[in-house]
Amino acid sequence: LAQLYGPLNQLGYIYRSINQSLVDTEKLLALLNEPTEVNDRPNAPDLIVHDGEIEFDNVSFSYDGRTTALQGVSFKVPKGSSVALVGESGAGKSTILRLLYRFYDLGEGEGRILIDGQDIRDVTQKSLRQAIGVVPQDPVLFNASIGYNIGYGKFGSSPEEIEAAAKSAQMHERIMSFPDGYETKVGERGVRLSGGEKQRVAIARTLLKNPPILLLDEATSALDTSTEKDIQKALQNLVRGRSSLSIAHRLSTIASADLILVLKDGQIVEQGSHKELLARDGIFASMWAEQVSASDDHVSLDERTTKPEISGY
Ligand code: ATP
Repeated sequence: LAQLYGPLNQLGYIYRSINQSLVDTEKLLALLNEPTEVNDRPNAPDLIVHDGEIEFDNVSFSYDGRTTALQGVSFKVPKGSSVALVGESGAGKSTILRLLYRFYDLGEGEGRILIDGQDIRDVTQKSLRQAIGVVPQDPVLFNASIGYNIGYGKFGSSPEEIEAAAKSAQMHERIMSFPDGYETKVGERGVRLSGGEKQRVAIARTLLKNPPILLLDEATSALDTSTEKDIQKALQNLVRGRSSLSIAHRLSTIASADLILVLKDGQIVEQGSHKELLARDGIFASMWAEQVSASDDHVSLDERTTKPEISGY
């Protein structure tokens, strides 16, 4: 058995690495019908979402059985609230989103993840993923019309619904500037969209999907001020009334979150509102001060109003 265990473990490791490179793109949607490492229990019921409350209960996780990616992580995302994950690279932010989306199941003694009191291991993956909208860092567009790319969020969307979602995602005017409006081909063989525009397409798609829970992975790249404002507005429209977990890089997102979790080496080292964390003058406060001084030209008006707070005025 010991002889078997080594290669099997290795295989699992390779599988996880491949799986992860896919997770990083929105191709994860295409994964929904693929066999994954995670299997539903026989006769597993569907997830029933009442409020969309998320709970991580003492969650620990390792990808390779040796190094710890998360350790004893507990927090709640109450109904309709926004929780921002911050922390340096490798701190465990993406792992939290991957576990909630059930790319991996927690084992015995690794804690529990609950949605409205239901352990996500006990419900079907399909129903879980139906309840969750994902806006990735770098959304993938199909080589198809912009209308198709948005309508993909909901099977059988009408042109009116697609337009309403695009308006709410601050993309309608840009689409109307294309030669064939909503029929314009985008992607590699059509109009190339900027990163900010692609994210707004993903936001429009997710608005159509209308999930109670959102996972957002913000782009790290700097955006010009008007794109930044459009994205913020689109995100505000998307996040309203839903429970959201965001990997946050933008100052404005961090400042407006209901709760901020600061991760370090797989553990929550600080948590609280923006104000509370600044008052604490710990890791978050120094990260914030660093970001504010680095962002100068890219700081939007919203952020300028919060700036004096951190510099102690
Ligand atoms: P970033 O901001 O760079 O995306 P992160 O905070 O999202 O970082 P995670 O991707 O969650 O961090 O990684 C947490 C830990 O797990 C890190 O130590 C990382 O090296 C490790 N890890 C992530 N994916 C794998 C994998 N497929 N196999 C082994 N270890 C992994």
